[in-house]
Amino acid sequence: MKHINHFVNGKQFKGQDTNTAEVFNPATGDITATVNLASQQETEEAIRVATEALPSWSKTPPLKRARVMFKFKELLEKNLDKLATMITSEHGKVLSDAKGEIARGLEVVEFACGIPQLLKGDYTEQVGTGIDSYSVRQPLGVCAGITPFNFPVMVPMWMFPMAIACGNTFILKPSEKDPSASIFMAELLKEAGLPDGVLNVIQGDKTAVDTLLSDARIAAVSFVGSTPIAEYVYRTGTHYGKRVQALGGAKNHLVVMPDADLDQAVDALMGAAYGSAGERCMAISVGVVVGDIADKLVEKLLTRISELKIGNGMINEPDMGPLVTNMHLEKVKGYIQTGIKEGAELKADGRGTSVAEHENGFFLGGCLFDHVTPDMTIYKEEIFGPVLSIVRVDDFETAVQLINDHEFGNGVSLFTRDGHSAREFSSRIKVGMVGVNIPIPVPVAFHSFGGWKRSLFGDHYAYGPEGVRFYTHLKTVTTRWPTGNISGAEFTMPVMK
Ligand code: NAD
Repeated sequence: MKHINHFVNGKQFKGQDTNTAEVFNPATGDITATVNLASQQETEEAIRVATEALPSWSKTPPLKRARVMFKFKELLEKNLDKLATMITSEHGKVLSDAKGEIARGLEVVEFACGIPQLLKGDYTEQVGTGIDSYSVRQPLGVCAGITPFNFPVMVPMWMFPMAIACGNTFILKPSEKDPSASIFMAELLKEAGLPDGVLNVIQGDKTAVDTLLSDARIAAVSFVGSTPIAEYVYRTGTHYGKRVQALGGAKNHLVVMPDADLDQAVDALMGAAYGSAGERCMAISVGVVVGDIADKLVEKLLTRISELKIGNGMINEPDMGPLVTNMHLEKVKGYIQTGIKEGAELKADGRGTSVAEHENGFFLGGCLFDHVTPDMTIYKEEIFGPVLSIVRVDDFETAVQLINDHEFGNGVSLFTRDGHSAREFSSRIKVGMVGVNIPIPVPVAFHSFGGWKRSLFGDHYAYGPEGVRFYTHLKTVTTRWPTGNISGAEFTMPVMK
């Protein structure tokens, strides 16, 4: 049985082995590995190593740090297939989708390659007579990242390339459900020339997370995962005086206006609701249908759902793979049962789905609920599976109100051919990432990623310019080099003379 280790100080590190978790291949249901769950002491060892590596790395010129990123990018491209296979075999998503995930992570590495330019400060000559000021951005120190199962490569890459390029050292605590890719990425970075101790990976659960949150040597924590844990991480980390960004869960709506191209809207709903088996924080889980087009839209969706190809993500490129674990599958099935009980109409039921020669896989076919109302549990909570809810509304105003009233505000999309509706929607909607005729509006790396309301706790979004701000302190230096007489002590607030 394969055993997945930590990666500390430039090498794999096994740990005490007192606490481990099982890792599955979700397509077969087989246990493929065990993973170490770090104790407090093991986590503290990673913190010690990252603290020791900090002085030298933070003083390394940004251009040299960028060169490591350039090499890392090259190695990622070379090892794309291997990394994608690791994702699919532990997460279950289809191989092409795994490659797409890596490509979106790579964008952040490419952005981080520009770090000398991104860290360039401002300089103002003569802010006062004979006085100049300049601002610089300096690294925070040892940073930690805690990441979810659904993007085992992309989400860690939202964090560590930016943190490291900014001159910090980093400890990644990936999801214990699909931990292999993080070790491989750390090995590639070492091969790219990253000094030992700058990036460390600690496998683990709450024990490791709590150690990272409370240890005084950690300056900042980036978290991505479900809302209850995001809130916990934010509260605990800030309690201990750390800078924290904690991205949480979502319930993303796609509004279909009566003037929209229905076939395009159906394509968008299919891909965004069922791609990656709905296990995306930007998945569309609610279709809001405006006016009298709902019957027609639902009919088209049902035809397409019946044609969904479901199978092992490694074989013949199906549309959708399995869910990540049996436990998660059961949780999603529980939501389906609740939806039925609360009066939603289950028009497509994926619960009977089985895949030949994969009888123990964690598969669930596409599910569609119609006539869902805002008071229902399946509307309010994040299901994180291939379950799409249709809410019918009379007009645009009701659609906007519905979305603005929801506790989450991660992503949203509007399908329309009317520029005025699109403009109004983009301006008034209380959601962080908005798509117009785009189903999954994940910002590219040179913008930044983040939701509103209970989808994000903290003041900084992920990657892009916000990533640079999050992972650096701003320092402003004011200088004077007097040559003649300087006046004596001044007891008033300094003002420009
Ligand atoms: P999760 O919250 O269960 O786990 C996330 C991380 O927190 C993991 O590393 C896990 O080990 C750790 N963790 C879990 N329980 C903990 C506890 N009690 N104390 C401390 N740490 C704990 O999330 P998940 O199931 O891995 O991922 C799915 C969730 O992530 C969904 O809610 C999804 O919307 C969200 N997500 C959000 C974004 C975003 O950008 N907003 C992106 C991806 C995923």
